[in-house]
Amino acid sequence: MADGPLLVYGPRSLEYDFGPRHPLSPRRFGPGIELLRAVGAEPGLAPEPAPDAELEWLHAAGYIDAVRRFSAAPWSEPEAGIGPGDDPPFAGMHEAAASVAGGSIRAIEAILRGDAEHAYHPGGGLHHAMRARASGFCIYNDVALAIARARRDGLRVLYVDLDVHHGDGVQALHYSDPGVLTISFHETGRSLFPGTGFPAEMGEGIAAGTSVNVPFEPMTGPEPWLVAIEALVPPLAAAFGPDLVVSQHGADGHVWDPLASLSLSTTAMGRAARLVDRVAHRFAGGRWLATGGGGYSPSRVVPRAWALTWLAGAHRDVPDRLPGKWLRRWEDDAARWDGGPMPDGFEDGPGFPGTSSIGLPAGEQARRTVELVRTVLVPALLGVAGSRGWWRFDAAASPAAIGAAPAAEAPPAGRQTPTLVAPLAPAALDGLILAPRVIPPADPVVAAEILRAALTDGAAAAAAVSGEWIVGVALAAPTPVQGVDRLVALGVAPEWRGRGLATAMLRALVDEETSRGRALAALHTAAERDPMDPLPRAVRRGVAEALARSAGMAIAPAPARISAVDPDSRLAVARSVGAPNDLQARIEAWLAGR
Ligand SMILES: [Zn+2]
Repeated sequence: MADGPLLVYGPRSLEYDFGPRHPLSPRRFGPGIELLRAVGAEPGLAPEPAPDAELEWLHAAGYIDAVRRFSAAPWSEPEAGIGPGDDPPFAGMHEAAASVAGGSIRAIEAILRGDAEHAYHPGGGLHHAMRARASGFCIYNDVALAIARARRDGLRVLYVDLDVHHGDGVQALHYSDPGVLTISFHETGRSLFPGTGFPAEMGEGIAAGTSVNVPFEPMTGPEPWLVAIEALVPPLAAAFGPDLVVSQHGADGHVWDPLASLSLSTTAMGRAARLVDRVAHRFAGGRWLATGGGGYSPSRVVPRAWALTWLAGAHRDVPDRLPGKWLRRWEDDAARWDGGPMPDGFEDGPGFPGTSSIGLPAGEQARRTVELVRTVLVPALLGVAGSRGWWRFDAAASPAAIGAAPAAEAPPAGRQTPTLVAPLAPAALDGLILAPRVIPPADPVVAAEILRAALTDGAAAAAAVSGEWIVGVALAAPTPVQGVDRLVALGVAPEWRGRGLATAMLRALVDEETSRGRALAALHTAAERDPMDPLPRAVRRGVAEALARSAGMAIAPAPARISAVDPDSRLAVARSVGAPNDLQARIEAWLAGR
């Protein structure tokens, strides 16, 4: 087998076929697989139907029965989303759809066994299928089922959806599971199917904060799209701590795609795939299943997007030009089905016609959306760590500055009553170990590096120390608002919770700040939680309010733009004597992005 991701493709891939007039055409496999072969990929796993017992992990038994009836008798009355329109019945549709699911499930199993580090299933990515309903060309949700397979082994899964349409089915099927973080980048539901995917859809109950949605206006273009992915995926992954990454790389965001209008380039899609690859290596031990998805320009766009995704997983450079033999073989198809000539290269290059968003409001809107999503869903410490240079996710891990616990090891509980250390100076870290799950990110080695960098940068902190272990941290960082610091982390290791340590640290920090004439502001959002064992959403808010109150902070609703996304968000402020009257207003203006 060739080096590079395990390529999932076989004869059954061609059977998922809604007919000659349907946009999702198996015609894409001809030029698509041939171009993959030209860059060195060879199919290594042929999809076969997943048994009902596996489909039933997420799909209703009655729905599977209905799909089987259509499969045998396609002329049946419309039912469960199957009928004239997006999801027309066809003979053999159960076996065809179950094979797409089987391909993604078997690919995950190959990764779990260690037979493959990465796998790529271009025929997969049917992300709209719901529990008991077909939707948006999708019958069974192969990506959600692949995630479910990993969850059965207890693994935490990061899902990144880059299709131009919102990944609504995957989100819905894992909406209440705190062990699955879904992040979808898509054209806004105000103008495009399926009409969902707004930032307020953030997961429910204990899973609040594990659905992330980044909607874009039409004609956003490649640059703001890629900036959003680069700004959000690494810190969200770092905070969540996945064991495995699953991603969906629909090619329908491309400027030549007939069904949507995000105006992307293949260059941006390839770069996004390379970012997902780096995130998988940095945070998930390299375990990564990539799938295809939408893409309705079957000759001119889909094959290039597939090749770029596979090359990203193969860690290989992109060839300068498309192979001449491939171009000659498919140029007639491009003219006939895609309405235009073939391009020269895999990548579209800068200034590709139709992709410039310079001067359009969509780019500025994207920037504001990213800022809002970051405020509500990225832990404050990781947002600030990025902007102040305390941490770069792509940098090689530096030798642990203050040591750190191996992830599996926890400090021995109850040995020594913790001591409150306030203020915490950088030198005090020497010889201490930061316990897991005190502050983000999930990896305590990286958390320790960030804490060291923060203190060196002048951040104010209080800590709870037991023996050689740091078991609690409260940390404040400067803000652009004059005289105001922000509480960016407040956490206690699991074994030491419920003993009043957080209250004591927060009080000490408030005293320290106000005695220096500074105010301390704290914004509680869905991002501030223990990702390994999160409390229900309303309980988290109650805990945050009680802590702020006991530290003498005044509590108010978060600014309207933030509350609209996260109704449980709260703003708490401790003012110093003589603070200006408009302090609260200035803090709110800053948090709301002005
Ligand atoms: Zn890789």
